[in-house]
Amino acid sequence: MKKLLFVAFLFSTLNIFSQGFYCGTVDDGSMRKRLEQNKKAIRTSLESRDDEWLFIPIEFHIVTKSDGSGGIDENQILDELAHMNENYGGFKMKFYLASDFNYIKSNSLYSDPGGTFGVSKIKVNKKKFPNAVNLFLVNDIGSGSGPGQVLGYYTPALDVVVIRKSQFGVNAQTASHELGHFFSLKHPFYGWEEDPYDPAKHGNPLTVLKTSTGVVIEFMNKTNCDVAADLLCDTPPDYNFGISDPERDCKLNGPILDYNHDTIVTMENNYMGYFFGCGDYEFTPMQIAAMRADFLSSARNFLHTGIVPDSAAIDPSTFHVVYPANKEKVEYYDYVDLDWDDMPNATKYEVIISPASQPQNAVKYFIDGQSHLLLTNLVKGKKYKWYVRPFSNAYTNVPKLGGYTFRAGDWTIGTDDLSDVTELSLYPNPTSDGVIYINSSKSFDNSTVEIYNMSGKLVDKFQMDLTKGINKLNLTHSNYHNAMYNVLIKTKEHNYIRKVFYGK
Ligand SMILES: [Zn+2]
Repeated sequence: MKKLLFVAFLFSTLNIFSQGFYCGTVDDGSMRKRLEQNKKAIRTSLESRDDEWLFIPIEFHIVTKSDGSGGIDENQILDELAHMNENYGGFKMKFYLASDFNYIKSNSLYSDPGGTFGVSKIKVNKKKFPNAVNLFLVNDIGSGSGPGQVLGYYTPALDVVVIRKSQFGVNAQTASHELGHFFSLKHPFYGWEEDPYDPAKHGNPLTVLKTSTGVVIEFMNKTNCDVAADLLCDTPPDYNFGISDPERDCKLNGPILDYNHDTIVTMENNYMGYFFGCGDYEFTPMQIAAMRADFLSSARNFLHTGIVPDSAAIDPSTFHVVYPANKEKVEYYDYVDLDWDDMPNATKYEVIISPASQPQNAVKYFIDGQSHLLLTNLVKGKKYKWYVRPFSNAYTNVPKLGGYTFRAGDWTIGTDDLSDVTELSLYPNPTSDGVIYINSSKSFDNSTVEIYNMSGKLVDKFQMDLTKGINKLNLTHSNYHNAMYNVLIKTKEHNYIRKVFYGK
């Protein structure tokens, strides 16, 4: 099973932009307009601002089937965000999580984001995140009359990016490519999308000056680079050579001569091209300048939040489990407070827990700010395996850590079980003057009283011999607030849980 999954993953990432796979971005004219404005901004900009970090809020929309199944694994998003930040970090553009993942249950958006219902779902959900780049992760994209599978696209009309979930992972370039479109970049082979270069049709040397869609074809000698193809002069001519490169080896099979009989030297490893297998992809200085200018333009004011994201590195070696110890059998099955040390620079944690023998049934919890998780829904006596993935809104590079096991206990904390109430009761409730009384029907030597807040954190603890009758407890700890608390009384015979409201 494990092996099969691995093979499938390799296939999905190795096929990027290879034959039959392509990008569905179509310029409705507005991208060209923005790019022209960005070029003008670059030319007229008096001071270079290249050393300034640009922080880009991004919202990931996880699209599932209507029954909630089939969505992308959140870990692939965290992996890809780290990857995107590697790709864009060299020129000081950094993406950060605008907020929590947004889940959308919709069969139509899941399989046909370009259809009427899909588009209306996109519009509704984009509105919820007006200050972010909105990126939708779907299962399938209808390809219409295209030559194969659309991997992703940027739509200028909706100003959103849509990507197949299979294209998210450490080796895929699709996200970095589509975000290039978001920031006004065109394909270096602009105009050749639907009708890639074919020597039998277009000649070698080239015999045409415009593509079948009427776009000016770029010369090698740079005399028309400002108005041809992608309008940028440091991306050399490309007539969509990548999509038909049979070896997928990141090499143009030449020589191919342009209209002036100059030999074409293309740039295979450009993020905005379609060449496969290049290893390191790059944006050119003009592409970078255009993207930065686009971000800084007034059209992108909604992205200028002023937020400086948390991007300091998290050291995986700072992960230490506090509770439960590896392989420990815990006391309860419905009150297990997983606890680990705070990790420097981590502001969020993902906890992944599954029955030890069924990793496919993992449940994921996303926690803000605290380094523990109270579980109240485990199965009596069952063995569990759990991982923690620390991250922050702009640092998602650390993989899941841990992989420790524990066995759920045989006891219930039994908050709804009132059968033992006659044995032990607590009053007054609410407390007054920080005092509670335990009325016990028997005496219990060496008992423990633990007081937990409602998020499962231990607030106070007493060791005492409970006598038959009234026992007084002074709640003097400064940690108490006006709130509900769980009081856990552990005796040798039985464990009791009671709720009290602490009033000051
Ligand atoms: Zn594209």
